[in-house]
Amino acid sequence: MARVLCPECGTRAAGADAFWGHEKPYCSLCGWNIPAAIDSQRALLRQFQIALYLVGAFFALLAIFARDRSTLIAFLFLSAVLLVACLLTRKKLQTLTRRQTATASSPASVVAAKEKTLRERTAALERVRSMPRPRRVRLKIVPRIISVLFPLSWVFILFFGFQFFGSNGQNTGAFPDNGLLLFAVLVPAAWTALCVWILGRARRDRRLLTDGEVSRATISSQWMAGSRHPVSKIAYSFHDAAGRPVQSEVTDTSRSLYEQMEVWAFYDPLNSARHVLAPCAYCELQDA
Ligand SMILES: [Zn+2]
Repeated sequence: MARVLCPECGTRAAGADAFWGHEKPYCSLCGWNIPAAIDSQRALLRQFQIALYLVGAFFALLAIFARDRSTLIAFLFLSAVLLVACLLTRKKLQTLTRRQTATASSPASVVAAKEKTLRERTAALERVRSMPRPRRVRLKIVPRIISVLFPLSWVFILFFGFQFFGSNGQNTGAFPDNGLLLFAVLVPAAWTALCVWILGRARRDRRLLTDGEVSRATISSQWMAGSRHPVSKIAYSFHDAAGRPVQSEVTDTSRSLYEQMEVWAFYDPLNSARHVLAPCAYCELQDA
């Protein structure tokens, strides 16, 4: 997980990716996001408990009916792992609840840290607002690499494609088999589609960051989606210059955005539905 700073007081947030999954970051100094962290730990504990009951029930059935006792050892091991996971999650939950109580009354130092963070955030937004347009923008690292790699890869594909299929055709007198042909067409096609999509997004983001209006967007919630390759999704909202509310959801590729955080939204003044959050854009401001 990327380094996460508390949006309230600027302290480095606690909580990180545990070995069994993703955990919510929280601030142990001012209490930011502790309720969300407690909710996610409770959900995790419920999952572990259900898994433990199921494995336990299956283990009991096997113990009664199975002739081969060796499978029992595997189930015993699985139950032990789940039990340890349950105990660790419960302990974490207790720690979080204690911290929530402890941070309920903020000492003067925390109040001062919160005020300082708010001042810095407001100053940063004003700095971006006052930048002369067109703002100076550069591509982020992934689209920058792709913008170089994409034309080069096509030189490579055409050169070796002609060589391979040309010589193959001459040697055998026939065109190569269907599987190879499919591979030779599908792989460059998928690669091209991916590059064109990323470069298209980068072009749109460049336009929005260069000339778009800027507003402060607030993240209302964050959750993980997808089981095999989970991605971080966020819901957010902001108001455009005319005061119209804009609400949307997006995949947070930066993996650094959580509840109550504020980021810049760059939007088309004629249509605020066309917008991008600065951390999720494929471009970034050069002078920010
Ligand atoms: Zn904090």
